[in-house]
Amino acid sequence: MLPRPLKQLGQHFLIDTNIVRKIVALADLSGQETVFEIGPGRGILTRALCGVASRVIAVEIDRQLYEHLRDHTRDCANLELHHGDALNFPLSSLPEEAVVVANLPYYLSTALLFRLLDHRDRCSRLVLMLQTEVARRLIAGPGSKDYGVLSVLTQVAAEVELAFHVSAQCFRPRPEVGSSVVKLRITRPGLVPPAQEKVFRLVVRASFAHRRKRLLNSLRDEGFAPAAVQAALARLRRSSDCRAEELSLEEFVQLAEALGQPME
Ligand code: SAM
Repeated sequence: MLPRPLKQLGQHFLIDTNIVRKIVALADLSGQETVFEIGPGRGILTRALCGVASRVIAVEIDRQLYEHLRDHTRDCANLELHHGDALNFPLSSLPEEAVVVANLPYYLSTALLFRLLDHRDRCSRLVLMLQTEVARRLIAGPGSKDYGVLSVLTQVAAEVELAFHVSAQCFRPRPEVGSSVVKLRITRPGLVPPAQEKVFRLVVRASFAHRRKRLLNSLRDEGFAPAAVQAALARLRRSSDCRAEELSLEEFVQLAEALGQPME
């Protein structure tokens, strides 16, 4: 018997095969690729992926679901099912150019996305179902209320497309929030040189840490020297009154380059 869905693990299972087809089509698999799936659940997406991918590696945290799926997918010779937390899965063991396809557990979607982006050298694209609110943040640009750390850190690493929305009726149990599918195509090289990434993340997080404050004050509060910030803003032809949400990706890259490290 199938175990009852656990709300705390974000278990909203897809029941609409048309949506499954659309997700698989969006992944645009060649037949030679390895797919990494987070949270296979009852396996509706997993089975479809096994039909078109060369290999599917899936990790499920719920032991009962994992055992149920293992026992019911013995016919899927190209499936490697793991029991565990995707946050601890050794992503560096994935083959290069893997394709990530997942209906993510919403309680963990941003943490999982950041982790996947940290290991983007292993993958070429990601097709993810997540909350519409998070999808909007992923595609937001300067001036939008949704523009923030998630938008900037994702868009410097990938081209983001909001592909389609999914009705709550397509899941059991139904989620209380809207759902959307996004596609992220990893860009190589990304906008930020690898050696600069740490500082870049620090600057972006510090910039948005106090949304209502001026960028100058937010960065000062996070340890950056006001004179250096002022000089960097002047180089960008930005006034010292500007706020983080006004800056484009390219401006954040230049700001991080100019600021280097925060003061001790
Ligand atoms: N893929 C299935 C589908 O589309 O019907 C299930 C999707 S459901 C939204 C999310 C799945 O992720 C659940 O099976 C849940 O148990 C699993 N999950 C939750 N947290 C997880 C974690 N940290 N690591 C791996 N799987 C997790």
